[in-house]
This record gives sequence, structure tokens and C-alpha cells, in this order.
Amino acid sequence: SVSLDNHQEKRKIVIAGAGLVGSLCACIMGKKGHHVALYESRPDPRSEREQALAHGRSINLALSARGRAALARAGLEDVVISQAISMRGRMIHSPDGSKKAILYDPNTEQCIYSVSRQFLNEILISEAEKNPNVSVHFSHKLVDSRMDKGKLTFRKTDGNSAPTEVVVESELIIGADGAHSALRQAMLKQPMSNFSQTYIDHAYMELKIPAKKNGQHAMDTHYLHIWPRNEFMLIALPNLDGSFTVTLFMPIPIFGELQTADDVETFFTREFPDAMGLIGKEYLIKDFLSSRPSHLISVKCNPLNAGKGVLVGDAAHAMVPFYGQGMNAGFEDILILDNILDMYKNEPVEKALTRFSQSRVPNAHAICELALYNYVEMRCLVNQSAFILRRFLDYRLHKLFGKKWTPLYNNVTFSLTPYAECIQHKKWQDQVMKKVKYTSWIAVSLVTLGGLVVWRDFVHSRVHDALQLVSLK
Ligand code: FAD
Repeated sequence: SVSLDNHQEKRKIVIAGAGLVGSLCACIMGKKGHHVALYESRPDPRSEREQALAHGRSINLALSARGRAALARAGLEDVVISQAISMRGRMIHSPDGSKKAILYDPNTEQCIYSVSRQFLNEILISEAEKNPNVSVHFSHKLVDSRMDKGKLTFRKTDGNSAPTEVVVESELIIGADGAHSALRQAMLKQPMSNFSQTYIDHAYMELKIPAKKNGQHAMDTHYLHIWPRNEFMLIALPNLDGSFTVTLFMPIPIFGELQTADDVETFFTREFPDAMGLIGKEYLIKDFLSSRPSHLISVKCNPLNAGKGVLVGDAAHAMVPFYGQGMNAGFEDILILDNILDMYKNEPVEKALTRFSQSRVPNAHAICELALYNYVEMRCLVNQSAFILRRFLDYRLHKLFGKKWTPLYNNVTFSLTPYAECIQHKKWQDQVMKKVKYTSWIAVSLVTLGGLVVWRDFVHSRVHDALQLVSLK
């Protein structure tokens, strides 16, 4: 049994889960001088065996402003960006093979970055470990939690001997143990804990476009490629080795219909002929038929704290991946938690955690909703002229009025504006647009009416003149 006694300014913290968010949290809290113990159920992801087995929910991820701000606080922004590929916009692939680039910000050319999940997790764990304030324990699975007492039980497995139990006490417990969080399960037993989880009826499968023979990318490197097909879509993000990770998002029943090599070939020939050419027909069929689609979950939780425990990252707000914000929002959780711990440094930790939950819940719910919305935008709306026109107007107005008129995507992706405020801002813009539309309709109607009256008077006077002429004759 390991005992960590209670200090206030420099706290004893236990983090469950050394995924992206837990390991970043260990870096930032360790840097602040807190005493951090990081526990992870898997073996060390940096070991050769684990690297060979590495399979995950996505091979690469889009990193944007919120994630970058948190990496900067850990002192890792520059090194991560140096190993990432900038994507300056969406490249839309039509069924006829034609392509159209849509920049994320035509005014300033801001970018998001494609970064390898494995690289990011490794660098975060290594950075955390460098700090003498941080200890990292792999193959320790959280199996029991007492939030009121700050007590956690981990099951330690080393593969050789029988599992043993390790009991840890701390002043602050941070649950970064992912979408199916064990800490959250324990929290939900507390009264007044609200929770919802929704599986959407679409799933995803990862495929790969290999690098060209000369190691170059087979498509324009600096874009997030999208093949929108209304009901489903394919996307591709570039990797440093010249390949693209391709993800097919599609209703689960359609995955079910593609059972044979012929089914897969017919489907891709009809929907994504250019992508099939780049993946390679044989490789595609083999990969597709040997993979299983993965499910997509959205999780909301309120409050995010109980006793000495708090949830962050996917444990607090797993979301569908269509806004590219899951990791970014999780990283931002750590920035905010760190700020609040500073603000409440001489107060009981429970007070700080309640403040964190109050400030984070509305924003977590907002980004979960936005992520669901963006699937419709990506697979469907990008093809529609009303969307394209609105986008054009939004960027014109953004150029004219700056921050006063920031388009929703840019607010979410390139600013630290709280997510709930981004939605409010968009609602306000929609109202303005509606008013402008009605005012324009009224103006057009009045002008048309006025024109008709003038025309009527004109015709009337001409007829009158003609009649007078006839009568004179
Ligand atoms: P996880 O990464 O799930 O880490 C949780 C860790 O906890 C794991 O290491 C796990 O082994 C460990 N753990 C679990 N249970 C226990 C236990 N009982 N005891 C101890 N340890 C435990 N986000 C973006 O920002 N941009 C993107 O482009 C993007 N693309 C995505 C694409 C796809 C297809 C998917 C599915 C997600 C995507 N995301 C993206 C979301 C992103 O992957 C997640 O939001 C992010 O990984 C969350 O990190 P986390 O550390 O909270 O959880």
C-alpha cells in the first residue's frame, strides 16, 4: 500500500490512464511541482512488442489551437509541430474524380496538423517520466475507487506472476481512463450523477493509401481529403512516411452488405474509384475484408467530479470524431484544471473540482453536439450551394469585421473561445443572416413593386397618348 499524504499548494495527484490526456496531464502537473503518480492498464506503449501490436482508434489525429496551447504549457508544442504535417483546408473529391480545395481560412491560411497518435503518446510519456516529480506505472489497471477517501486500487499484472493489488491514496484523483472509464463507473454510483452515452448508427474502418515509390504522398500533402457521398464519406490524413491514413465512415448496415471481394470492389468502383486506385485494389479488398468496423460513441456526464475525483478527456466527454476535437478538448481540460488548481491552491481540492466541473460541463456538452453536427457538414453539406454561399459570406464578413464575425469552424478550431460560446456566436450570426435575408426580400419586393407601379403608369400614359393621337386623327 502506497500512502500519499495531503499537501495543498503542491498536491499529491494520482492519474488513471496514460493515454494522450493522462500523459499530458502528468507532464503539466509535474512541471507545476505537484507529486504525480500515473497508472496505465496497458504495458509501456514504447516497448517494441507494444509498437508491433499498436492498433488504435486512429493512427493519426488533427491537432488544432486548443491542443497546441496545452502542449505549449508542457513545453512540447514545437517538437510536436516539427513532426506533424500542416493541413490548410479540405480537398473535396467528387465522384467524377474532380477535386476542389476549400481553405480553412482563406484570409489567413491557418492550418490544422496531422500528427501520429503513437508518436504523441510516446513523447508525452517520456516527457512526464523525465520529471522527478512524476512516476509512471504500466500494467496497472484501476479496479476500485473510493473518491471520498481518495483511495484507488489497481491490479498489477506483469505477465509472469499472478496479479497483485496495489492500493494508492492521494489528495486528488484524475480519471483519464478513456471513453469506458472505470473511475466514471464508480462516480456514477454517487447520488445526483447524470450520464448519457449514445452509439451512433454509423461505424468506421481505417485503410491506407501507401506512399509513392519515391516516398512522396500520392495526393496533395497539405490537405484533409474528403470524399463526401451524403450518407457516408471517406477521409484521408497525411502521415510523415508519405502514406495517408484513410477512414471510411458509413452506416453499419452498409458495412454489413460488403461481405465479398466483389461487393467491396463494386462499392468502391461506384463511390470512390480514385481512392481505390490509390489504395490499390488487391490491398483494399484484403484490408477491408480482414478488418471489422469500429463503433462511435458520444458520452455526456454531469457533474465531472465527486469527492477528490475528477474526469478529464474521453472519460468526461467522449465524442464522435468529426470535429477533430476529442483530443484537443481533452488537452484543454488539463489547461483549465491547471488554472483552477492554481486559483484554489489554498483551498480544499473538492472546491476546485466543483469549479472545474461547473465551467467545463456546458462546453463539453457543446462540443459533443458540434461533433455530431459536423458529420452532416462533412459528408453532405459541403456539396450544397447554400452551404458554399454561406461559407463565402462568412469569410467575407470575417475579413471585414475580424473577430466580431468569426465563422463557427474557425472559432472552434483556431481559437480558445469556450465551445458553448462558439455555438452562441453562430446562433447570433444566423439571426443576423436571417434578418438580412428578410430585409433583402422586403427591399427586393418593394423595388419590384415600385418598378411594377412605374411600369404600369408608363404603359398607362403610352396607351393614353396613343388614344389621344387616334382621337385627334
Ligand atoms: P484514451 O486515448 O482512450 O486513453 C485512455 C487510457 O486509459 C488508455 O491508455 C487506456 O489503456 C487507459 N485505461 C483504460 N482503462 C483503464 C483502467 N481501468 N486503469 C488504468 N488505465 C486505463 N481527436 C482529435 O482531437 N483530433 C482528431 O483528429 C481525432 N480523430 C479521431 C479519429 C477517430 C477515428 C477516433 C475514434 C477518435 C479521434 N479523436 C480525435 C479523439 C481522440 O482519439 C480522443 O479524444 C483521445 O484519444 C482521448 O484521449 P484520452 O487520453 O482521454 O483517452
